[in-house]
Amino acid sequence: MRVRSQEDAGISANLARLRERVGAACARAGRSPDSVRIIAITKTRPASDVRLVAGTGLADVGENRAAELAEKVGQCADEDLTWHFVGQLQTNKAGLVARHADWVHSVDRARLARVLAAKARAQQRELTALAQVNLDPDAAAGELGPRGGCHPADLMDVAGAIAEEAGLRLGGIMAVAPHPASGVSAASAFEHLHMLASRLRARYPQATAVSAGMSGDLEEAVEHGATHLRIGTALLGDREPIVG
Ligand SMILES: *Cc1c(COP(=O)(O)O)cnc(C)c1O
Repeated sequence: MRVRSQEDAGISANLARLRERVGAACARAGRSPDSVRIIAITKTRPASDVRLVAGTGLADVGENRAAELAEKVGQCADEDLTWHFVGQLQTNKAGLVARHADWVHSVDRARLARVLAAKARAQQRELTALAQVNLDPDAAAGELGPRGGCHPADLMDVAGAIAEEAGLRLGGIMAVAPHPASGVSAASAFEHLHMLASRLRARYPQATAVSAGMSGDLEEAVEHGATHLRIGTALLGDREPIVG
């Protein structure tokens, strides 16, 4: 087992490299690095990794499974962190997410918005919810997709359902780039997302967040206006996951 200080140095070094990438992408796009927030995706990693992330000064962490979110929030209750839920969500897990997440990036149907909102209200919480769109909606279900998200044509319906519910605050839009084998490039997908985000903001000025970009495509995402990057491997490395 490696000692904590080495692991810590690893994550700090990864963060330094990540900030360089984000900084360079922002410079190319004429954007301020302050306009881009890094969310550390800690799925499959132990709570000790969440603590290491918190120790680097990052304040946002994300999970993609409801039970794992609940467990780690409990284990890290003493850390001052904003918790993001980024995974596909079934309504029967909405209560768990409403209790433990601050942001939910993956609201992709009106019914989920309604259930999540009711669960949030029951716990006197308000969640920031993003409408997730599928940027390759014609992909058949299966290995290449879909990766969650509503059809772009349904975006306003989903956003409207979020906006009208007490307990939810419409924060913006989220997408995962299509699988590389789909033939849709990350750049063209995020260009499409940028257009959808502009449309959303025209109707809902408060919906300013654009959650897009992961370890492999953050440059394209920054270039096309991402405000929130969801970063797993570039930060935590591809060490053996201990969970799942
Ligand atoms: C795992 C995951 C990420 C992070 O992916 P990396 O390629 O490891 O940076 C981002 N978004 C979602 C929805 C994820 O499930």
